[in-house]
Amino acid sequence: MASKIFCTANQKGGVGKTTTTVNLAAGLAQIGQRVLVVDLDPQGNATMGSGIDKRKLEMTVYDVLLESASVAEARTRAEKAGYDVLGANRELAGAEVELVELERREARLKAALAQADDDYDFVLIDCPPSLSMLTLNGLCSAHGVIVPMQCEYFALEGLTDLVNTIKQIHANLNRDLEIIGLLRVMFDPRITLQQQVSDQLKSHFGNKVFDTVIPRNVRLAEAPSYGLPGVVFDPSSKGALAFVDFAKEMVQRIGTMR
Ligand code: ADP
Ligand code: MG
Repeated sequence: MASKIFCTANQKGGVGKTTTTVNLAAGLAQIGQRVLVVDLDPQGNATMGSGIDKRKLEMTVYDVLLESASVAEARTRAEKAGYDVLGANRELAGAEVELVELERREARLKAALAQADDDYDFVLIDCPPSLSMLTLNGLCSAHGVIVPMQCEYFALEGLTDLVNTIKQIHANLNRDLEIIGLLRVMFDPRITLQQQVSDQLKSHFGNKVFDTVIPRNVRLAEAPSYGLPGVVFDPSSKGALAFVDFAKEMVQRIGTMR
């Protein structure tokens, strides 16, 4: 079976992209899905947060983008997390400049992933907080975008830019691309403004808003320092349980996506 490819994207930093990527991956793995995480952020947080030391990687997504390695050659197994990782480290920052010179520069990742299509049910791409050539490679590879967002006033403004970018990519570069859903993260129901923004999101975007809500939960924030996704670090925590629910919701959604 072919894999379904999703990008976690939002041009804002610190909104929960990486936390979403690694915990969704671990949640999917827990329910029996074969998962590859692609770290497209030179910070390498998804790599480290999966328990892989970015400084010790022999090959990374950088080598794949520059076509000096295949996905099968460059991936690493995140044993405890239960999925594979195409890792990243600072070297990836250079790819931005190097890719500009090359042909099909926005479609490099897509071509590489096509060769690993039978190996995974899900490929989750963690994007950097910008609309760079790296993010463009992510968006050109994907069937859908998962947009994690905090229910704050300015969140809606930032969303307009992202929605427009995705529309343009859909029109010009990737006919498959759609926003599969907005994921409310770091949610605190005691804060009235968050409830209000959440309601607004629902009324504007309807079923594009995932049913699952990820609560603010300190265990999710602590997990990366142990090199584990929260889902594995403390499976009974509220945050972990929410991400396993989210994994189930994703499996259901893609069943109805076609
Ligand atoms: P991004 O990848 O968008 O920059 P991160 O996933 O790294 O964002 O999250 C930013 C910070 O917020 C991190 O310190 C992370 O541990 C923390 N965080 C993310 N989601 C939650 C949550 N649901 N509850 C508590 N802390 C969270
Ligand atoms: Mg990140």
